[in-house]
Amino acid sequence: MLNGKVAVITGGSRGIGRAIALSMAECGASVAVIYAGRSDLAEETCKKAEAFGVHALSYQCDVSDFEKSKGTIKKIIEDFGGIDILVNNAGITKDRLILQMTEQDFDAVLNVGLKGAFNMIKHTYGHFMKKRSGRIINISSVAGIMGNAGQANYSSAKAGLIGLTKTTAKELASRDITCNAIAPGFIETDMTDALSGAVKDQAVNQIPLKRMGTPEEVAALAVFLASENARYITGEVIKIDGGLCI
Ligand code: NDP
Repeated sequence: MLNGKVAVITGGSRGIGRAIALSMAECGASVAVIYAGRSDLAEETCKKAEAFGVHALSYQCDVSDFEKSKGTIKKIIEDFGGIDILVNNAGITKDRLILQMTEQDFDAVLNVGLKGAFNMIKHTYGHFMKKRSGRIINISSVAGIMGNAGQANYSSAKAGLIGLTKTTAKELASRDITCNAIAPGFIETDMTDALSGAVKDQAVNQIPLKRMGTPEEVAALAVFLASENARYITGEVIKIDGGLCI
């Protein structure tokens, strides 16, 4: 489905980002895996991707850093000869009620989750325009649609990503470039591992399908959105949440 394509995945060292990198590699795409600190895990993603016979390289880059993001995209284009798919997946949480949330907690989550996606889109925009093709996939969250107590920073970042997705879709549609958002519910990764057992049980109880999702299930949707089959879909926000947000 993605033979010969080049995909950039931010936060590809683990969790949903790793699953997306590996599913895209399995479908024939070479992958550039961006990570923040876990070079060991990013390397592991690359090794697993290479087993599918594609090219894979990892890049340390804090996506909230505008200049570093610019340099990283430039290097990826040099290394791979171009980019076809950009997946903005990097994200962090710093959950607290607004009463206890510090300015730093708010800024940090917005800087990675929202500004990070802006930085990557900004620096690939001209490249995609020149090629007159490209696929951008932003990993939002149902928290950006419903809001979530204790996640003022996170749900703001994820809601902002939806606005960024729709705007990017409108700006780039005339060049045949699509931009869509995926809004997962509860997915089994390190991020949700950090939640207490009681919180997880309560969450699963509210999910009509009565279980958390897997990173591979989110990755299958990302592969579809990156494929030719999704060429007429743009500006969409697709929930993948076991019915949580019906
Ligand atoms: P994880 O915490 O498992 O992984 C986060 C990834 O983001 C890691 O690869 C990490 O790199 C990377 N990252 C963190 N900060 C930065 C940064 N400043 N610059 C570059 N990379 C960074 O997260 P998940 O896999 O659970 O989540 C992935 C995305 O999906 C996030 O945007 C999250 O908000 C979203 N999501 C997750 C849900 C869930 O239930 N898990 C639900 C809804 C949305 P490193 O390994 O180097 O630290």
